[in-house]
Amino acid sequence: MKTVLIGVGQAGGKVTTALAKYDEEMGFRAIRDALVVNSAKADLQGLPLDTVLVGQDRVKGNGVGGDNELGAEVMQEDAGEVMSELGERIDSETEALFIVAGLGGGTGSGGAPVLARELKRVYDLPVYAIGILPGRDEGALYQVNAGRSLKTLTPEADSVILIDNDAWRGAGNSVEAGMTAINENIAQRIGLLLAAGQPIEDRASFGLGDEGADRSAAQSVVDTSEVVNTLRSGGLAAVGYAESEASEDPDENVNVVTSTTRQALLTGTSLPNAVEADAALVVVAGRPKSLSRKGVESARAWVEEQTQSMEVRGGDFPMDSETIASLVLLSGIERSDRVQKFFDRAAEAERETTKREREKEAADTSFQSDELDDLL
Ligand code: GDP
Repeated sequence: MKTVLIGVGQAGGKVTTALAKYDEEMGFRAIRDALVVNSAKADLQGLPLDTVLVGQDRVKGNGVGGDNELGAEVMQEDAGEVMSELGERIDSETEALFIVAGLGGGTGSGGAPVLARELKRVYDLPVYAIGILPGRDEGALYQVNAGRSLKTLTPEADSVILIDNDAWRGAGNSVEAGMTAINENIAQRIGLLLAAGQPIEDRASFGLGDEGADRSAAQSVVDTSEVVNTLRSGGLAAVGYAESEASEDPDENVNVVTSTTRQALLTGTSLPNAVEADAALVVVAGRPKSLSRKGVESARAWVEEQTQSMEVRGGDFPMDSETIASLVLLSGIERSDRVQKFFDRAAEAERETTKREREKEAADTSFQSDELDDLL
């Protein structure tokens, strides 16, 4: 899928950089261009991508802190400049636009929904978001911001692929320490998903030579329309991944394909424990000659059962690799426990914050309270 990425905020910039690097290293060329937008000058410095600084008049390059309403305002005010920079990067070949942002901060949290709306207004292209949710031990403000941002972003974007910052944290690692590993995990999953939707002509270069371009060996290769159709139901999505050592003989790989797909869905998703979905796509990557068609079909049937969805697509991704990898895209995961828990956590944090604010206001205004007025 020929994609233009737009990273917003600090997390957006770092994850966009990791994605662009992965795509380049793998030679996929699915990411055609990338731009990073931020209101904090320091977070843009050192990024190997083109950047736009927004809100300079308002915050002088110092960022918006955790104020996502201000994040939305500065993005709106400077939307013209951002859209004009993007206009130079989006062309008739572009198949999808991806906005990448941490939803718990300020610039990405407030800016991503504004940008999604602007992009949908101007382009007749799918606009997807990769939304990063704060980990459990991040503060109440992050949870509240992420809850509000997600509610605003979901109706604007064609789909929001959620990444939970707790998903790939090694035991004992803080979110901060594990960030690089998390970003690499995101890059690998999303990077492969984007590459899976690349047309077959572009695949010969994936290290397979003639084998990669052999259409008979690649009858059931996943293309862009399958990714787009899986995400068509809109709402929230997640992506799972796992890989295992493979045999050369496809018959011996039936179980490898099914067990790798099980791992991808049950332990490897970007949103742990999200299983129920409206639609799904199973992509099995490996050498065409060792991929088991029977394995792919039974993996697909198993995902259908687990997700309780009648709409599960499946296909191959020919790739020169000793391993077999399984990528599972889940779309329409709103009903899953994990999403419900996140919204409960955000609502609880919002109630606590409001209560604290009210108490503070009450303390500040106690001299003008009604009760005192009544005494006079
Ligand atoms: P902004 O610059 O105001 O948009 O704020 P941030 O992008 O720093 O958003 C804060 C949220 O993003 C928090 O939940 C952080 O845990 C998360 N975050 C910050 N940097 C990264 C990163 O490099 N990778 C990931 N996965 N999350 C990040």
